[in-house]
Amino acid sequence: MTAEEIRTRGESRLADVRDRLARLEADAPKDSDALLRDVDELQLAMTNVTSQLGVLVNVHPDLAAREACEKIQLEATKLNVRIAQSRPIYDALSAIDQGKLDPHARRAVELTLMDMKRAGIALDETKRKHAQELRERITQLSQTYSRNLRDDVRTVELPLSALEGTPADYRGAHPAGADGMVKVTTDPPDMAPLMAYSKDAAARLALSKAYFDRARGNIEVFDQLRHARHELAQALGYPSFAAYNLEDKMMGSPENLDRFLDDVRAAAKAPAERQYAALLDIARREDPSTQRIGAWDTQYYVARAKDERFHFDPREVRPYLEYNSVRQAILDLAAQLFDLTFTPYDPEEIWHEDAEHFSVTLNGKPAGFITLDMHPRPGKNKWATSFGYKLGLKDRQLPHNVLVCNFPDPKASKGPALMEHQQVVTFFHEFGHLVHGIVRGNVVEWARLGRPAENDFMEAPSRFLEDYVFELDVLRRFAKHVETGAVIPEDLVRRLQAARDFGDGVQVEQMTMRSRQSLRLHDDANIDRDCRTIAREVAERETRFELLDVTNWPANWEHMSSEAYAAAYGTYVWSDTIAADIRTGFTNGLMDIDAAHRYRDLVLAPGGNIPAADAVKNFLGRPYNTNAFKERLAKSG
Ligand SMILES: [Zn+2]
Repeated sequence: MTAEEIRTRGESRLADVRDRLARLEADAPKDSDALLRDVDELQLAMTNVTSQLGVLVNVHPDLAAREACEKIQLEATKLNVRIAQSRPIYDALSAIDQGKLDPHARRAVELTLMDMKRAGIALDETKRKHAQELRERITQLSQTYSRNLRDDVRTVELPLSALEGTPADYRGAHPAGADGMVKVTTDPPDMAPLMAYSKDAAARLALSKAYFDRARGNIEVFDQLRHARHELAQALGYPSFAAYNLEDKMMGSPENLDRFLDDVRAAAKAPAERQYAALLDIARREDPSTQRIGAWDTQYYVARAKDERFHFDPREVRPYLEYNSVRQAILDLAAQLFDLTFTPYDPEEIWHEDAEHFSVTLNGKPAGFITLDMHPRPGKNKWATSFGYKLGLKDRQLPHNVLVCNFPDPKASKGPALMEHQQVVTFFHEFGHLVHGIVRGNVVEWARLGRPAENDFMEAPSRFLEDYVFELDVLRRFAKHVETGAVIPEDLVRRLQAARDFGDGVQVEQMTMRSRQSLRLHDDANIDRDCRTIAREVAERETRFELLDVTNWPANWEHMSSEAYAAAYGTYVWSDTIAADIRTGFTNGLMDIDAAHRYRDLVLAPGGNIPAADAVKNFLGRPYNTNAFKERLAKSG
């Protein structure tokens, strides 16, 4: 797919959307079924433009192609606002007798009308125009923010001794140069093992500083972005962007989110105190002058503590986790749990030869496609994300979902591409998103219901799937020693399980602290202040750890470019509490296939057809609560 093809296709698809819009506005069908069908087709056509661009801009190796995506994305934003602000469509939809609609059609109408209100349909002409301009500006600033992060990879030169403590395959992949120095980059797969294992505190600090120094230009970009978001929210009648951003989520409001975070922090306090004391004890044995542990060293000391307490050393697991066998294991697990199959195929168009493509069946019927683009390369998104490439709608369009990750590359590795257990957890996590997309994409009938309406539910299915990487049954199937072929010993898995939750207290505190940062960054009162100051204030109040003295955080925080997370980073902890409750529905263990099928059909399949809370309730037989999450936290060491 070339830049030219992206441009031509994007423009012709946008032209098609414009035609549909013009026809609807000129002559909206009087019959409500026909009207709904036309509006739905319009929404689907629009989604088909934006989904593909959202993937390509993050993965295409050619700069010109990524730029072409950004240009079309901007046009799409304008058109999206035009649609959402269309008076004729709004009036026609409002005139429908909703009592005569089936529940899903009614919900699609309700949500569409809500979107239109949130886009400023009620404003006068001048203000609508203003809201439109702000939307464009927000898109441009978000694009710049993401681009600055994608393009900024730092390389740090460290003495060879900095590799002491890191796994053997990692040392092999980082030979010293003539000057005796080794190079480590801020790309996640390169950085993670050093941060977790290097015994050299100065090296960990240097790499962390480089990481948080990335995208300096984003400080100004982010402050402008927050400003534009705020201005938009105010123009639409909201007190703050935080209020606007949380309104359509399960959390509902900044007040609710603050209360939720307080509640979770209270539950995390005792385990966090115990765990922090344990980490500090280790740090002081290494260096008696240690006052506080650096936030960047959390992972390192948690790993040390797990080793001391549970005799669990993640390096011991690493030789069992080769990328290709992990990938196959995930496909096999999804097959067993959810009746999915994955068959490699060659698509007509690709963006990079590294991406792998599979056609999917569900219960033996064609159910869509997945693409795995799993290894780092220049210009590619640095995070681990699941994208919808094509929305699935029952009997109309098969879903196509894409994973974009940065795991060790078997082709680029000097030795076997071994993964950290934590990376395998991330792989399962992202695969959870992907399964969700495929399953609901074969059930949902309306484009507006293609995904759950509440974005803060979206992490629950993926958090839930993470637990499978700790199951003996699952691990013993694929985790074989890369040299000897021996299956992972049960004793090692038991130690992995025992150590699993240790550190959750401090980690939950860190996540709630970040959630609060994301919220405060979008508060009315903070809008004119430097983003770094706001983030630091929250951190100083809410963390036990020492902060880097100079950092560009939150200007290099990937999530901040997207409205899925902007003021709502709390989504992760929120979803965690739901995922923990979902687990209680698996009374016979996670490998209970009947429970897995019920989970698939009741929680994943409905998509946006019903409120997320109802889907969970249907599975559990009661409303969801945070008890399971808190119990697990209390026992986390
Ligand atoms: Zn996720």
